[in-house]
Amino acid sequence: MAGGAYVVIALFFALAGGLVGRLKGHSFWLWFLIAGAVPIFGLLAAVFARDERTVERMRCPGCAAIVPIHQAICTRCGTELELPGDPQGILPPERA
Ligand SMILES: [Zn+2]
Repeated sequence: MAGGAYVVIALFFALAGGLVGRLKGHSFWLWFLIAGAVPIFGLLAAVFARDERTVERMRCPGCAAIVPIHQAICTRCGTELELPGDPQGILPPERA
């Protein structure tokens, strides 16, 4: 049955996408859902997604949380973030 085959294929891509996402420091379930919803493109998106382990970080001026440098708003306190003008404010990527 074609429907059953599609579910198997979608599950395979969902698992692969989830694992790739997890390896890059993202949420397994987020990428599981994306790759399962759009099987081939979701997996490709996971493969080409930014590797969170290699992203530089900075300290939030509001709550001092360490956040990825590309983030626009602190996920902890909601402070709007700007790139630190001082290179000293840029932290090296997190060591996994
Ligand atoms: Zn903050």
